[in-house]
Amino acid sequence: MNFKQTEEQELLLESLRELIVRDGSEDYFRDCDERHQYPDRFMKALLEGGFGLLGIPEEYGGTEVDNLTLMMVAEELTKAGVPSYLYGNALPVDDMLTFGSDEQKKITMEYVKQGIMPFCLGFSEPQAGSDSSAMATTYTRSNGKVYINGHKTFITGANRSPYMLCMAKDPESIDPAKAFTMWFVPMTAPGITVEPLPKLGMNMVDSCEVYLDNVEVAEKDLVGAEGKGFVQLMKNFEIERLMLAAATMGAAECAFGDAVRYANQRIQFGKKIGQFQLVQEKLTYMAIKIENMRNMIYKTAWEKDNGVSIKISSTLAKLYCAQAAFEVIDDAMQILGGIGYTTDHRVSRLWRDSRVQRIAGGTDEIMIHIAGRAILKEYAK
Ligand SMILES: Cc1cc2nc3c(=O)[nH]c(=O)nc-3n(C[C@H](O)[C@H](O)[C@H](O)COP(=O)(O)OP(=O)(O)OC[C@H]3O[C@@H](n4cnc5c(N)ncnc54)[C@H](O)[C@@H]3O)c2cc1C
Repeated sequence: MNFKQTEEQELLLESLRELIVRDGSEDYFRDCDERHQYPDRFMKALLEGGFGLLGIPEEYGGTEVDNLTLMMVAEELTKAGVPSYLYGNALPVDDMLTFGSDEQKKITMEYVKQGIMPFCLGFSEPQAGSDSSAMATTYTRSNGKVYINGHKTFITGANRSPYMLCMAKDPESIDPAKAFTMWFVPMTAPGITVEPLPKLGMNMVDSCEVYLDNVEVAEKDLVGAEGKGFVQLMKNFEIERLMLAAATMGAAECAFGDAVRYANQRIQFGKKIGQFQLVQEKLTYMAIKIENMRNMIYKTAWEKDNGVSIKISSTLAKLYCAQAAFEVIDDAMQILGGIGYTTDHRVSRLWRDSRVQRIAGGTDEIMIHIAGRAILKEYAK
């Protein structure tokens, strides 16, 4: 295993750093965060810089890179203070490019090339969070049309995405494993109501309630194979978890850098606070956590790129990084004292935004549930 950056990776990351200096200042992100505005200008710059199509197959006009490079890009972005929840669309887009019809793929890529996420992910429902099998949204057929009814919740970007990748069940199906199908639902269809949910952080995108009342779609809007919704959902699940972990780690590195710089400069009791051993202890354990996170993420990405199963390693990485990154950011806030708690300092934004990683994309407890069972199974062979 060799994680030394290749020349291509070095050049790519260097151009990303330049792009962030030019178009992604902290003042800009603070303003977007305060005004609850999507950072359109920055996302456009990312697209123009070639990063919006990174990880998308060449046959669709993208730039193929390995998973390790994708993780390095996510880390580099968030290390510089870019919100961790803005990047990583290549993986859900890949789902559509794998399972979608030619028309669905065409629509998807038209939006991606304009820097617009073509669809939001419509899985969670009020009674179906960790337990996806409890989804109750239905699709039924009548007079050659398909009608979707249900209530989705926490759907990120639902109020700005042209489509929703909506999981719905056939109420007639007798086999629960084959009851769910994915539909490509236009968000402008009559019968859809979207209501943003007020939340603690992630201010630049809304997560929304989505009500579907007899929403009419056509057979052509079915994505992939009927009854295979869950199997399709799983395709990129593991690597998507790793992407969340990488972006969160970058946010921790960002907060760490701010804390170290502050510790080197803030004077109390006639000394730089970095000279107090209690502060040094924090910095040391923060550095260990960052090192652990990076090793886990890079190794898991390498495994994926080399055909090794990442079922357990991606789950462990998501669990560890969500917790460790939040701890690092929390310690950074402690070192910054009152300044870190003000909204003038980006560490307060990183703190708010990173907490969700222990919930969304699978909670800590569900990661333990998945990893625990898989570990036991390994040793039962
Ligand atoms: C900001 C944000 C954005 C999101 N974006 C999207 C999106 O775009 N699309 C989408 O479909 N969903 C989205 N979600 C939903 C997210 O996937 C769910 O919040 C998550 O899966 C947890 O579900 P829940 O909130 O219903 O919690 P629940 O599943 O109700 O869990 C509540 C608590 O019980 C614990 N628990 C549940 N089951 C078990 C178990 N078997 N063993 C031990 N403990 C258990 C959980 O770990 C948690 O601590 C988003 C959520 C948030 C907060």
